[in-house]
Amino acid sequence: MVLKLSGEALASSASDETIDAAVVERLAEEVAATRRESDVEIAMVVGGGNIWRGRDGQASGLDRATSDHMGMLATVINALALQDALERHGQPTRVQSAIQMAEVAEPYIRRRAMRHLEKGRVVIFAAGMGNPYFTTDTPAALRAAEIGADTVLKGTHSGVDGVYSADPRVEPQATRFEEISYDEVLARDLRVMDLTAITFCKDNRLPILVFDLMRPGNVRAALLGERIGTLVR
Ligand code: UDP
Repeated sequence: MVLKLSGEALASSASDETIDAAVVERLAEEVAATRRESDVEIAMVVGGGNIWRGRDGQASGLDRATSDHMGMLATVINALALQDALERHGQPTRVQSAIQMAEVAEPYIRRRAMRHLEKGRVVIFAAGMGNPYFTTDTPAALRAAEIGADTVLKGTHSGVDGVYSADPRVEPQATRFEEISYDEVLARDLRVMDLTAITFCKDNRLPILVFDLMRPGNVRAALLGERIGTLVR
């Protein structure tokens, strides 16, 4: 399974902390506990939006590629925080970065990542794909396809627990889909992930589970393949 966490999910909602230790702690605890009770292979892709997003720089005239490089470095910071928390819970973890930085992370090597997973280590993919002009949704889908993952687990942190016919925070009568096709997501412009990532998943027949990351127990349930949230396939 590939679990995509957005950087913003790690930020504190109550204060202006960039990385909320309590959130990281809870996520790490759930992932480590899931590994203890099952042998599901777990890879994670973490975003950087709590620190920097490529588009943040555009308003101030920053070069887009440079701004995206800053965003990718932000994901490495989050990956190290997650690794530290997972290992404190006794879960061996490797960070593989798509931008080489040998002192802090392994380089991304597909076969090595797969070997780590086989051995029960959690692998965190950092620095996205290493290329500007993408967000971390696309590398989440790409890495999932590369390592032969069953599903991309896309955790949301906005309180919306799946894909709805309309934004349930605006329209309370909106209904949640149990399952929806890629084509319908695209036709209705539902933006569960970036368009590039959705198209990639569609082309490669990779299901996406959209679920509420912040509800305790959901990370475990998603990793174990339980039917929560909405399945896009
Ligand atoms: N980024 C990139 N290429 C990638 C992945 C990420 O250029 O393959 C940059 C991009 O600027 C993006 C930032 O890294 O805005 C942080 O990632 P993202 O916005 O996906 O973070 P999230 O919204 O998941 O927290």
